[in-house]
Amino acid sequence: CPFDLQAAIQGADNDVAVIIPSKPQALTVTYADLKRETASFQKKLANIGITKGSPVSIATVNSYEFIVSFLAASWQRGIAAPLNPAYKQEEFEFYIEDVKSAIVLVPKGAYAAGAPAVKAAQKFNAAIAESYWDSAKNEVALDVKELGQLKGKPAQPLLKPDADDIALVLHTSGTTSRPKVVPLTHRNLTRTMKNIRNTYQLTSSDRTMLVMPLFHVHGLLCGLLAPLLTGGSMIVPTKFSATDFWSDFIQYKANWYTAVPTIHQILLKHPVPQPLPKIRFIRSCSSPLSPTVFHNLEKTFQAPVLEAYAMTEAAHQMTSNPLPSVGKRKPGTVGLGQGVEVVILDDKDNILPDGQEGEISIKGENVTKGYLNNAEANASSFTKSGYFRTGDQGKKDEDGYIVITGRIKELINKGGEKISPIELDNVLTRHPQVSEAVSFAIPDEMYGQEVAVAIVLKSGQKGDEQEFRKWVGDKLAKFKVPKKIYFTDVMPKTATGKIQRRIVAEEMLKKES
Ligand code: ATP
Ligand code: MG
Repeated sequence: CPFDLQAAIQGADNDVAVIIPSKPQALTVTYADLKRETASFQKKLANIGITKGSPVSIATVNSYEFIVSFLAASWQRGIAAPLNPAYKQEEFEFYIEDVKSAIVLVPKGAYAAGAPAVKAAQKFNAAIAESYWDSAKNEVALDVKELGQLKGKPAQPLLKPDADDIALVLHTSGTTSRPKVVPLTHRNLTRTMKNIRNTYQLTSSDRTMLVMPLFHVHGLLCGLLAPLLTGGSMIVPTKFSATDFWSDFIQYKANWYTAVPTIHQILLKHPVPQPLPKIRFIRSCSSPLSPTVFHNLEKTFQAPVLEAYAMTEAAHQMTSNPLPSVGKRKPGTVGLGQGVEVVILDDKDNILPDGQEGEISIKGENVTKGYLNNAEANASSFTKSGYFRTGDQGKKDEDGYIVITGRIKELINKGGEKISPIELDNVLTRHPQVSEAVSFAIPDEMYGQEVAVAIVLKSGQKGDEQEFRKWVGDKLAKFKVPKKIYFTDVMPKTATGKIQRRIVAEEMLKKES
């Protein structure tokens, strides 16, 4: 079993690994090309002093150079630390200081332009290099602009990764608190790669349309690494574009994709290709997928939709709904653990029986050993018997499928009565006038917290508060009926399309005052 990111790239030399759909001509990379290019980039990194444990920050968009530099850093026993290239200087400073970057890789031209990543790297004396596809030389360039802390460091020998080396450091999304730093080893990553391969029965004939950013686990593990383990291939545009999605999908013959619900919803609002390409499955992950969107997707794209559940600390996937040939898909659930043990714990770390709600907790080779520099979070997240507490509230249904009711920090606590914001969102998005609904707690003198909801209406609709209250009251217990209803044109979201209920609440309260 391959347990490192060098051994785990398993495609046949002549098979296509990566397609970059740039105009006028796409770049097509075989496995032989990818391995040769990665080995050569590893050498370039070693020559300037990158070695075991060196943090290599990568601030480029999804691209061939991202893939090569990511793999090369990990092959050299370095620690890849991808960063959202759209960050502002202050954000880059936060992350570069936090991971102690030895070098920051930026796109061509960023140095002369004094890009935010460059300024931030200079502040912490990290080396700065531009990395890009040099079509004249037919290679991924490493154009070193400043050596920073690497100055005077001798060239390092070429290394081979070990299963327990840290290969990747990522921050959590910071949805509930300051982003936490998660180190993931080659073993953690390869375990997830195998779990994803097994869940979706990925083979060398599968080709994915990779539209999730590679600076988060979703795109990195499911879009890039799992397919590389299976000898499959991927189409990699620089970012998601609703207008190019289907033309690329069809032209380069993809047969599946994975994305957050926001992207699925955007695709549903765009013209549907005729004839439809044959889609083996659509995967949804990272935020709750409402059953309404699930059904619309299956109907519109004539493909099974498999909702999965993942987090940074688990090197992405924890559970997923199965392929149709394996089992049933249950909308509103995130399916079953695959290669990951999933239990529901009460607050004294006891395992609860099916049907009872508690904290979703996991155990598996994919799970991080612990956050960096965060003893407090480590103490509260890992139990004595080795489970990792996810911070998500949920239960197992009668088939053992996991139902997520919300983040523990985001449950609405109305006088001791816990209300799942996700359940309420789902009921409201079933209303024919509602496009999006996000529920959250607001302070209340009587109950401590009360139920509020922000609603984005479908275009041309006039919302009626009383009608929405009646709609909820007909379907859910009376105490769940929202006291406050806010109408908004856009729902605030994070870069990865996540809802931060805390931010939605703040913005709605701000609007009101
Ligand atoms: P932070 O931990 O910093 O507050 P975060 O938890 O959003 O941020 P990530 O690791 O990116 O950071 O996200 C993991 C979380 O995303 C999970 O704990 C869960 O709350 C949510 N999530 C993932 N998949 C799903 C899903 N299918 N349905 C509902 N929630 C999901
Ligand atoms: Mg989290």
